[in-house]
Amino acid sequence: LLQLYQPLNWFGTYYRVIQQNFIDMEKMLDLFEEGDAVKDAPNAGHLQIRQGGKIVFDNVSFSYDPRQPAVNGLSFEIPAGKTVALVGPSGGGKSTVFRLLFRFYDVQSGSVKIDGQDIRSVLQSSLRSHIGVVPQDTVLFNDTIRYNIRYGNVSATNEEVVAAAKAAQIHERILTFPDGYDTRVGERGLRLSGGEKQRIAIARTILKNPSIILLDEATSALDNTTERLVQEKLTALGKGRTCVVIAHRLTTVVDADLIFLVKDGAVVERGTHEELMDLHGAYYGLWMRQLGEQKEEEMQVQEEAEG
Ligand code: ATP
Repeated sequence: LLQLYQPLNWFGTYYRVIQQNFIDMEKMLDLFEEGDAVKDAPNAGHLQIRQGGKIVFDNVSFSYDPRQPAVNGLSFEIPAGKTVALVGPSGGGKSTVFRLLFRFYDVQSGSVKIDGQDIRSVLQSSLRSHIGVVPQDTVLFNDTIRYNIRYGNVSATNEEVVAAAKAAQIHERILTFPDGYDTRVGERGLRLSGGEKQRIAIARTILKNPSIILLDEATSALDNTTERLVQEKLTALGKGRTCVVIAHRLTTVVDADLIFLVKDGAVVERGTHEELMDLHGAYYGLWMRQLGEQKEEEMQVQEEAEG
């Protein structure tokens, strides 16, 4: 998902502003609006969440470079309120799905619909107000923890900020900081760990209360306890919302309602973890390879420990 930032390279001025100010994705996209190739249709209205945020990609094709399609005839349906994990090899098209859903780019053929409405027919601001994004690497504003969480909904009360922090399992940690919720964070304040930053992003997204969540799971390895905590957080966040996760961990994938294996710009396998394992196809191969690598790593660590 970080690659969402890449097109900004074309707009040097904006890029510098962004680098200086620790702007997260929604904010960044506001800034980007002026240079944005995607324009609101003249009669664009508000996105109506009528069915709880059902997402349909219908025969979608899109390429950054005409010689190489990034997604090619991509079709899938994500039922409202369900969690779908996108897995697959690097360059397969997972991040492109996020970019198209957030309407960072328009599809070149086919359509993307949310609750039956083509996203090209609604206001971008309205579309984006219904989508919460939790990137792999969260950048915080140089401000207080409270400000960073409240950014999800500027009219939230202090009690609501605390409730969101509790749901994201960061409240107790915040209480240990020198000034609690008034502790300054970011480059010029307290430095938080990657996991803590992601929890702040999750609290922010809980406050924003969108119908759809796009989550780019961090690739870094986690120990079992942290992994369990992360899973609990995701469960809290995804409750009652349509959740699309670029997943790297087996636990996230196993718990997803549905898994799409995205390869060469298309969904090549879809189903639950059990269904896909029984298929003995590409998904099965992916996990066998990953389990093998994990085992190898564990053995290396053990060998090093034994001297
Ligand atoms: P990863 O797991 O490595 O993040 P991914 O599955 O998310 O990969 P995408 O980033 O969606 O894959 O990439 C799909 C295809 O589009 C790849 O061939 C990639 O090289 C290409 N691509 C992605 N971003 C750009 C870009 N900004 N400009 C040109 N080509 C791009």
